[in-house]
Amino acid sequence: MNAHVAFRREEGEGGSAQRWVDANLPTCPLCRTQSLWETAEGSGDLASTRWLFRCPTCGAVFSMPPEVRAAAVAEPVTVVKVPLAVLLRIDSVQRSQDEDFVGEEFPLNELQEWASEGQD
Ligand SMILES: [Zn+2]
Repeated sequence: MNAHVAFRREEGEGGSAQRWVDANLPTCPLCRTQSLWETAEGSGDLASTRWLFRCPTCGAVFSMPPEVRAAAVAEPVTVVKVPLAVLLRIDSVQRSQDEDFVGEEFPLNELQEWASEGQD
């Protein structure tokens, strides 16, 4: 599916996608390890429309619309802004027990709950 996407971990803080996922999802929701996510931000057509994150431990790939795009939309100041739930899609997995999740979208807070399950 992501055959043309090259994942890599950038040095230091990395780009926008790496900073976002490190801050919001420090633990992989599927394998529950502290993930040093690899991202494919800005490399190719697919990555220009979605941020892609890959867990180096279990190989799961998540994607979401770039957050910068949403923030760039000008809105009338009179509108009371309701925070939109960020939805992450599970694009692909490598472990057979995760296969049911492929193609499904989950709110960030739900994935964060998964990540915290089983941790003390
Ligand atoms: Zn994982």
